[in-house]
Amino acid sequence: MNGLDEVDTGARRECESPTRRRFLSGGALSIGVVVASLIHRRALAAPMAAASPDVSIEKFSDAGQSEGIIRVPRVVKTDEEWRKLLAAQTYIVTRQAGTERAFTGSTWNLHADGIYHCVCCETPGFDSRTKFESGTGWPSFWQPISKHNVLESTDNSYGMSRVAVSCPRCAAHLGHVFEDGPKPTGLRYCMNSAALHFVARR
Ligand SMILES: [Zn+2]
Repeated sequence: MNGLDEVDTGARRECESPTRRRFLSGGALSIGVVVASLIHRRALAAPMAAASPDVSIEKFSDAGQSEGIIRVPRVVKTDEEWRKLLAAQTYIVTRQAGTERAFTGSTWNLHADGIYHCVCCETPGFDSRTKFESGTGWPSFWQPISKHNVLESTDNSYGMSRVAVSCPRCAAHLGHVFEDGPKPTGLRYCMNSAALHFVARR
């Protein structure tokens, strides 16, 4: 198996059953291999919406209370700027639409009470009160903190039709959403720990 195959396998794990994923999770995957292999995948990153330099997002207090819809400037940086700014794994996930290996992230098994923000621009994305045990090895939520704070777009990479989830303010790739989640929404927002910054509720 060459490096490309390993990356492909890693991406597929995200929408397969937990059992299948565990079966496949043995292969070592170095960041170097991922970087080298993902250069051709830039087109997969969420497209930055054109035109307006501002975007509407819902603001939340540190306690997770809505403070209304606000207009904020988009966060726009060059690929090189992001690469310098972010840790390697975070750069690959958020700017190259990568997927971290299951059960390796910092928050898949985190049960603390708080808010998960976009790691690139701190837009609040998910509340721990909607986090659930998906068994996938990725932090999973049954809804975003606000429909204003996530962008969903079709992702047809790897021969699959999935819905990618990204940050509306900085276009960071966060993960995917699937329709096999628990009540009340039936949705499973399958995120990458590397794309999220957890802040404890205050
Ligand atoms: Zn962001």
